Amino acid sequence: MTTTPERPVELGMPGRGAFDGDHPPSKELISDCVHCGFCLTTCPTYTLWGEEMDSPRGRIYLMKSGLEGEPMTDSMVQHFDACLGCMACVTACPSGVQYDKLIEATRAQVERNHDRSPGDRALRNAIFALFPYKRRLRALRGPLRLYQRSGLPKVVRRSGLLERLAPKLAVMESLAPPLEKREPIPARTPATGTRRAVVGLLTGCVQGEFFPGVNAATVRVLAAEGCDVIVPQSQGCCGALSVHNGRDDEAKRFARRTVEAFESAGVDWVVVNAAGCGSSMKEYADLLADDPAYAERARAFTDKVRDVSEILAELGTVATRHPLEVTVAYHDACHLAHAQGVRAQPRALLQEIPGLQLREIPEAAICCGSAGIWNVLNPEPARELGDRKAANIASTGAALLVTANPGCLMQVASSLQRRGTDIGMAHTVEVLDASIRGLPVSALGVST
Ligand code: SF4
Ligand code: SF4
Repeated sequence: MTTTPERPVELGMPGRGAFDGDHPPSKELISDCVHCGFCLTTCPTYTLWGEEMDSPRGRIYLMKSGLEGEPMTDSMVQHFDACLGCMACVTACPSGVQYDKLIEATRAQVERNHDRSPGDRALRNAIFALFPYKRRLRALRGPLRLYQRSGLPKVVRRSGLLERLAPKLAVMESLAPPLEKREPIPARTPATGTRRAVVGLLTGCVQGEFFPGVNAATVRVLAAEGCDVIVPQSQGCCGALSVHNGRDDEAKRFARRTVEAFESAGVDWVVVNAAGCGSSMKEYADLLADDPAYAERARAFTDKVRDVSEILAELGTVATRHPLEVTVAYHDACHLAHAQGVRAQPRALLQEIPGLQLREIPEAAICCGSAGIWNVLNPEPARELGDRKAANIASTGAALLVTANPGCLMQVASSLQRRGTDIGMAHTVEVLDASIRGLPVSALGVST
């Protein structure tokens, strides 16, 4: 364990405890937990292992003992690391425990005060040297496309060699979606007809490079609904992966840059089509609260952030919807449903499409096992959660799975493929786009 002299130990503690004095998990928030256990059944790790310390209540207990002087042990860190950050417990908790704030504070403490094994550290460093950087991801596209077209993926998967030699690499290989051609997105797209709003679009890192069609569809749908769409060219990563993994300083750096990029664009709203990014951008006011140069700007920015389904619902529909005869299972991305409380808007938008039938997925509240990079760091339990989600999706008999997060799309697609379920996959805006343009359902990958 390392000490950080510039981050003072909290006074009055019997021992140093697990945490330094720089925003440890709040005693007040911890004391809101009345140990009722209502959160247990929606917690994916408790569902998998039935261990109290792998439940929200158990993790809150560990935070409390860390504040009371318990040192940060490997076992304690293991329980914190195992948390997917899905926030299903926040939805389920009748006492309003703000577990999201607690686990984010805890993760930052773990990153500062716990020595990870060299292998774990190297893997995390490699992930964070790649995923938040569009140019590096773009450089990966060429070799990855060649690999995907070579027929090698089938050989690699059938042999099981990569899984035996490098299971974490095998997970990344299986998650990579078939790469589409990149559609150029103009810096400004004018509204169709009367302008109703000027919006700025976050194009995202993984979303932009692995699912460029989603951004193109988002621009078309927003323009069709009367928005001028600005894509600030200076935007970079929003910092979601960093903040969700306790990399506080890095997250703040990304957040400041994002605030600047959208401030200078002069937009009414900042629109996001990736659930994980949206939830962290809505928390910039908290993240930058101690930064005198950015606190006020971050608050103003946060007020403007909307998930694309929220802004479309707020504006109301004007573009004509053409029929799509298709059954749709809508999967709630945790960072949209639990973290942002956005459940009704995407469903309502989909149900406006004539001919589209919406089906609910059993155990909808339980995470698919994606959770940012959790599935790469924890391949086996992620596979179990993915298989469980895939079985629940298949039970709906739907022809198309719709969700609003690139991580979920990759995790669910790979799980459905493993079980041999043939089903189309699309982001909510791709379905709206197909309907507005009068495309057939086959354009969404649905077999007809
Ligand atoms: S539901 Fe809320 S109050 Fe009850 S144990 Fe879980 S976190 Fe604590
Ligand atoms: S965030 Fe998800 S995995 Fe973590 S304790 Fe809450 S329900 Fe469990």
